[in-house]
Amino acid sequence: MVITVPRFGTACLAAKVLFDGLRIPYVIPEKLNNETIKAGCLVSPEEICLPFKAMMGSILECSEKGADTVLITGSCGPCRFGEYPELSQKLLKSLKKDVGMIVIDSPSAIGARELLRRIRALTGQSGRSGFAKVRALADSLRALSLADGIAAGARIAAGYEIEKGAAKKLLRECEKEVFRLTEGAAVIKALKSCRRKLRAIKTDPSKDPVKIALAGEIYSMIEPFANLYIEEKLMDRGVCSKRLITPGWWLKDLALKPLGLNSLKIKRACGKYLPSRVGGHAKETVAHAVISRKEGFDGVIQIYPLGCMPEIIAKSVLSAVQEEEGMPVLSLAIDEMTGEAGYETRIDAFLDMLEAKKKRGAGF
Ligand code: SF4
Repeated sequence: MVITVPRFGTACLAAKVLFDGLRIPYVIPEKLNNETIKAGCLVSPEEICLPFKAMMGSILECSEKGADTVLITGSCGPCRFGEYPELSQKLLKSLKKDVGMIVIDSPSAIGARELLRRIRALTGQSGRSGFAKVRALADSLRALSLADGIAAGARIAAGYEIEKGAAKKLLRECEKEVFRLTEGAAVIKALKSCRRKLRAIKTDPSKDPVKIALAGEIYSMIEPFANLYIEEKLMDRGVCSKRLITPGWWLKDLALKPLGLNSLKIKRACGKYLPSRVGGHAKETVAHAVISRKEGFDGVIQIYPLGCMPEIIAKSVLSAVQEEEGMPVLSLAIDEMTGEAGYETRIDAFLDMLEAKKKRGAGF
């Protein structure tokens, strides 16, 4: 078995640490680019959402490099995500690609026994001891948590840094460094060193930058290519940003779901605006807007793939949040045809409006 994962932000680092620890052959996908998306679009149904096309493009590239099994996550409620594993398998078969899939889903959806069976389908390929396998998993989770924490810290530091671009530069160097390492312990050590460097970045606490909460569909949140690198664009403009959805958050949510202890703060925050489940992460989008307002953020940018049903519902609910909580919202729908210039113009106009509002100290 040669395993791979679709490109999915920092989750790829966690997967690499896990596969290295298990000593199983793997292919880690390259960063997404227009060619990957084009390849995915060519084989996917036209009406399916962008994350599926990106995933297909990424899988096809990895299969060309020898991968024969894909590790992916399963459904997140009543939206098209539930079709991804079956549809991709069907398409791969029609393309005569001999690629299998291991679909990791919530125990509440497939049962704890089935989940364990699927995990064993992966770990069973490793000749390492039980202890080494547990260690590989622990290292992978630790690396994920550190990588997410460093990225979150850098995005806040970008608003206060004295040397413009220092936080972004550190983040890039850190990414380059950790992806070339092949031992979990070395990756963790490198990430801790990056965290120390991040803390050492000189900042000016008297600055009052615009603070943006990023919310939206999970793939658009986690995979930078799918949001046209919005976090880097905000860092370049000296804006602080924060997002709720990270791979680490998703894993924690998945683990706590069977106990009903997941996302308690989120359920409370969005209860008034969106009490029912509509699929995807619409509730998280709404809740993040409400919570961020209370935390002093100046506005929300919602990002989602064009045609994403849960986020279209969230968008209409966000109008009420804007009205009642006084939280300005910019909604951006993205597909493979989205032009970067128009996208940046809309972001800049929104930031200008928030900046002016901050100066006036006025309500929305
Ligand atoms: S959440 Fe939206 S983009 Fe993601 S699979 Fe569902 S409909 Fe598609």
